[in-house]
Amino acid sequence: MEKAFSKNLINIEPYVAGEQPRSADIIKLNANENPYPPSPEVHKAIAAFNADGLRLYPPMDAAPLRQAAADFYGLDRSCVFAGNGSDDVLAAAFRAFFNSDKPILYPDITYSFYPVWCELLKIPFRTIPVDEGFNVNVEDYYTDNGGVVLPNPNAPTTIGLGRDRIEELIKHNRESVVIIDEAYADFSGVSCVPLIKKYDNLVVTQTFSKSRALAGMRVAIALADPYLISYLDAVKDSYNSYPMDAVSICAGTAAMRDREYFEATCGKIVATRQRVTKRLRELGFILPDSSANFLFATHPDHTAREIFSYLRENGIYVRYFSKPRIDNHLRITVGTDEQMDKLLELLEKLINK
Ligand code: PMP
Repeated sequence: MEKAFSKNLINIEPYVAGEQPRSADIIKLNANENPYPPSPEVHKAIAAFNADGLRLYPPMDAAPLRQAAADFYGLDRSCVFAGNGSDDVLAAAFRAFFNSDKPILYPDITYSFYPVWCELLKIPFRTIPVDEGFNVNVEDYYTDNGGVVLPNPNAPTTIGLGRDRIEELIKHNRESVVIIDEAYADFSGVSCVPLIKKYDNLVVTQTFSKSRALAGMRVAIALADPYLISYLDAVKDSYNSYPMDAVSICAGTAAMRDREYFEATCGKIVATRQRVTKRLRELGFILPDSSANFLFATHPDHTAREIFSYLRENGIYVRYFSKPRIDNHLRITVGTDEQMDKLLELLEKLINK
C-alpha cells in the first residue's frame, strides 16, 4: 500500500557507478581507477599520521591541501577550493553557479552524473549532441544559457579539445560560468588551469581519484578566480563545513607534492594506452585516439554487450552503458601492462574464433 508520505519522497534516478567485484582476482577495468599505488609519500604521510589529532575537527578549508595545489600550479591559495572527491566539488559548483532560469548546456554523451545533479537541484538543462565521431563542437555552445559544464577530455568518449578551443568556448560565454571537468586531463597534457587568471567565469575541477591514485580517499579540487571560490566556500559552509577529513587532507597534500611520481605513473599509463590502442585496432576494434586513462571501443563483428559478458565471465570487468548512441561501445580502463596483456589475449581468442 502506498504510504501517505510517499508523495513527499524524492523522485530521482541515481547515478550508477562501475560494479565492485567481490573477488580480488578480478581485473577491474570499469571505473577508470589508477592501476598503480599512490605515491610513496602518501604511504609515509598516512603511517606518520597521529590519530590523537582526530579528536579535533579537521581544518575547515583543508588549507594544507589548497596550499599544495596552489604551489603545484603557481597560483595564490585563494584560487583553490578542495572537497570530498570531484563529485562533491562538482555538486557544490552546480549549486553555487547554476541558478539561472535558462538551461545549462552539456554534451548529450558525457559524464552521466550531470543530469542527476540537474534533477536533484532542479536545474534546467539542454544537451548538445556530439557529432558522429563523438566530437564536441564548441561553436554549438555559442548560445544563450545558464552555464556550461564540459569534461575535457570528455567521458566516456576519451576525446579531448585543445586549450585554444576551450578558450573560444569561454570567450563566447562571458555571461555564464563555464565548468571544465578535468578528471582525466593529466593523461592528455592539456589543462585549462592557466586560463583561470584570464577569465573570471572559468572553474576547473580536478580529481585525485585517477592520476593521483586516491579514489579510495575522496580528494578533489576546483581552481578559479577567488571571487568564484568564495561562492564555492559559501555553499560548502551552508551544507557541510568539513567535507574533507584530516586523513584525506594529509594524503592529498602528500600526493600533490610528489610531482615526480605523479608524472612517472601518468607517463606509464599513457605508454600502455598507446600500445593497447594499436593492438585493439589490429584486432578490428574502432576507437578514437584517447586523451584519458581509458579507451572507448566498438567492434564491427561482436556487440559490446557480448564482449562485456565474455570478459566478465573470464574475470575482467569493463564498463558497458546501455544508452542511446553508445550502446555498442565499451569503456575500458587502462591498467598495468600485465592486466592489458590478459585483456588482449582474451580478445584475440574471441575475435580469431
Ligand atoms: N568527472 C568525471 C568526468 C568522471 O568520470 C568522474 C569519475 N566517475 C568524476 C568526475 C568524479 O570523480 P571523483 O568523485 O572520484 O573525484
